[in-house]
Amino acid sequence: MSWQRGINLKSERELAIMRRAGRINALALLAAINVAEIGATTAKIDAAAAKVLENHAVKPAFLGYPGAYPFPAVTTISINEELVHGIPGDRKLQDGDIVSIDCGSILEGFVADSALTIGIGRISPEAQELIDTTMNALFIGIDQMQIGNRTGDISSAIQSFVEGKGFNVVREYTGHGVGRKMHEDPQVPNYGTAGKGVDLKPGMTIALEPMVLTGVKETRVQKDQWTVSSKDSGLTAHFEHTVAVTRNGPEILTTLDPDLDGPEAFRYNGYFVGRAQAAQE
Ligand code: MG
Ligand code: MG
Repeated sequence: MSWQRGINLKSERELAIMRRAGRINALALLAAINVAEIGATTAKIDAAAAKVLENHAVKPAFLGYPGAYPFPAVTTISINEELVHGIPGDRKLQDGDIVSIDCGSILEGFVADSALTIGIGRISPEAQELIDTTMNALFIGIDQMQIGNRTGDISSAIQSFVEGKGFNVVREYTGHGVGRKMHEDPQVPNYGTAGKGVDLKPGMTIALEPMVLTGVKETRVQKDQWTVSSKDSGLTAHFEHTVAVTRNGPEILTTLDPDLDGPEAFRYNGYFVGRAQAAQE
């Protein structure tokens, strides 16, 4: 059917490239969170991620990304009520902030895209619950990425989990196919109906990215024409992995490798290895 034509299925060889791109992207996020502390500027966090990409001779996917004007940094960094697409700069992190960092890498023409939200210093119980809910929503969505399921099964699982916790999912921004381009078909919203949408097939690669709001689901774009904030200024969080649909189930591509990266791979509640693996440690 014509609406499926935009979906690029990846070969084993292409998945191997995306796996390498994904690990480097994860290393960039790890470097970013290692410098994200009280008093650090968001520009410093961006520079830490940029350095990792440069060291691995990988092209940043976000730098120059077309919009109202080309995106001016390697990462997007979004604080508190800012949901996505925040521009790194001279803003300093404060005790109690929650910070979402999103990064994209291009290796041999293939894109990896991942994001996470962390707390700075002591954060409120509500902020912690928001972060935990959003990360769990990501893994609940990934669990649905099985052959025989449809994109609506993913969307519906994320939405019902998040709403069950009393939070909202964003409507205007969605998960997406990823690989040869940063945004490919299919779109995978964080809301939807089980059994609807596109059939999942081996070789599909999807950047799944729950974006969760404590308040209303509506957003607004700030004056800088990039930063997206919650309309009511309620707290927001964002987690993302690039995931392949395979005959053996979902494979998260934007992970660290404990054999290569050591104990650091198990940081941050298993985000970097996929939660299921972390639980076995
Ligand atoms: Mg992203
Ligand atoms: Mg994305």
